[in-house]
Amino acid sequence: MIAVNFHPQTLIELEHVSFAYPSGGGDTDVVTDINLSIQRGEWVTIVGSNGSGKSTLAKLIAKLFTATRGAVSYHMQERPPIQLIFQNPDAQIIGETVYEDLCFGMENYGISREIMRERALEALSKVGLAAHADAPVSQLSGGQKQLLCIAACLVLQPAVVLFDEATSMLDPLARTKIAAVAQQLHREGKTVIWITQWLDELAYADRVVALHNGGIVFDGSTKEFFYGSISDSDWAERTDRSYAGGLDIAAAETSSPNDSTEFHHLP
Ligand code: ADP
Repeated sequence: MIAVNFHPQTLIELEHVSFAYPSGGGDTDVVTDINLSIQRGEWVTIVGSNGSGKSTLAKLIAKLFTATRGAVSYHMQERPPIQLIFQNPDAQIIGETVYEDLCFGMENYGISREIMRERALEALSKVGLAAHADAPVSQLSGGQKQLLCIAACLVLQPAVVLFDEATSMLDPLARTKIAAVAQQLHREGKTVIWITQWLDELAYADRVVALHNGGIVFDGSTKEFFYGSISDSDWAERTDRSYAGGLDIAAAETSSPNDSTEFHHLP
């Protein structure tokens, strides 16, 4: 048997990162002393209730915001290193047609026409929009628009795709579709950071990071997040009983996403 050595590669590292909004007076930290490292190929889900600091943390991870204290560092060759998908696809789409929208980002990176076309068609087929390349964006459903936003990220070939509550404005069918596309990207090796307040979306995660009042209150496996230190066989039994091969989180499905008492690890 050949031994395979797996060397995790840290792509993103946050060290003692805190952030206070200048518009909030600049003296109240909404993200507090975050230490976090993201490895290549991981799926990390960041979960927390409304106002816990998820979106602020997303922008710090993406370097859209500069930490008030602490440092964010990247360790990958890809340019751009990271691309974000936000809640509202309309706020991210620039082009009038699907193809035009995909080209805008690539033009900024000086990619040739021929490669643009190749990448656009590949990305559209990955998200299931190949038949809509020439469609006006206005004819797309909300879910299709979000798929277009994913394609617009993919054409730039980032190391990491960060989904910031990317399903929150969509109907259940479109939510499932977006998650399925993200899972496929992850299977193909993409590093995924998935931000959500929905516990059922934790089913896709290798690792869960829970935020409360701007601080990390849990960082570990999905198994540990739900069940603490149970054995692997108990875990297998519980997940077998669950729906669609996901987690046994029926109780969570009936809960409000804003009810922080549902997060076992929150004070
Ligand atoms: P979440 O994404 O978990 O809902 P946010 O990161 O949006 O949390 O918000 C975290 C905290 O920062 C909240 O208390 C929110 O009111 C505050 N906040 C968010 N945006 C701003 C802003 N532009 N100016 C001042 N405070 C803000």
